[in-house]
Amino acid sequence: MSVLSRPEFHSEEAAYAHLEKIVWVDGPVCVHCGGVGRITKVKANPAKRIREGLWRCGDCKKQFTVKVGTVFEHMRLPLHKAMQAVYLMTSSKKGISAHQLHRILEVTYKSAWFLAHRIREAMRSDDLTPFGGAGGVVEVDETFIGHLKGAEKRRAFHHKMKVLALVDRDSGKARTMVIDDVNAKTLLPIVLDNVAREARIMTDEHSGYRHLKDHFAGHGTTSHGRGEYVNLEDRTIHSNTVEGYFSIFKRGMKGVFQHCGEQHLHRYLAEFEFRYNHRVALGYNDPDRSCMALHGIVGKRLTYARPDLNA
Ligand SMILES: [Zn+2]
Repeated sequence: MSVLSRPEFHSEEAAYAHLEKIVWVDGPVCVHCGGVGRITKVKANPAKRIREGLWRCGDCKKQFTVKVGTVFEHMRLPLHKAMQAVYLMTSSKKGISAHQLHRILEVTYKSAWFLAHRIREAMRSDDLTPFGGAGGVVEVDETFIGHLKGAEKRRAFHHKMKVLALVDRDSGKARTMVIDDVNAKTLLPIVLDNVAREARIMTDEHSGYRHLKDHFAGHGTTSHGRGEYVNLEDRTIHSNTVEGYFSIFKRGMKGVFQHCGEQHLHRYLAEFEFRYNHRVALGYNDPDRSCMALHGIVGKRLTYARPDLNA
């Protein structure tokens, strides 16, 4: 036996039962009328084209499955394959490419690509609670990745995509976002939105952070240009945690996702952020992490107006 022999990875019936247990903690809820009292299971019958996972609401007489209203709603792939994909994406530290999923799951590359993006959407956090409440420490840093479409290649970072990351040192959690620029005008409002005023902020000496000290309880900087990574007088002043976050992110993006267009970058960010925020050190094992991702499928429908497979 291994994790991969679990029934939800092989049987459609078990896959639905597994997902229903996660999404409907208190039993099935009608997606049409919100009814909970008179819901019955419709027995699957391939001969009559009655699919697996169907329920019927006695109040409104309509039928539904647990996928309605989630990122899996219009997915044509069998649910047990999606369960395998969720497990693979949440348990491999650097992620897994759509090509690899396509080979492992034996689905087309296109299906694997769409499935991976649905799962990334499920992993996307909608927690807006500011970091660093109760006077905690928040590390902030930016990094550059890939190549902006159409941008002329120049020195430094102008032609690259830009990413901001914040790490709350107390909770150990990260929050990341794609940004247009790294000047103070762009950075300040984002930091103000995501960090509590009573927090102490740690950054490098990048000029985009120069106004932070006016808005927060403290602002410590280290000068990476001068080779200073920890302040020797106050060793709490450093941004090594957020640097460590970026190193996982960059190794994964380079190794697994070679070409990522800017229009999809936020989803890859969500994926890395999700795994980091549900890592072993914070008490999550692989099955927990997979379960947390499945919790995230609810309330996030995903539609693409025009499929773009170049990412
Ligand atoms: Zn109903």
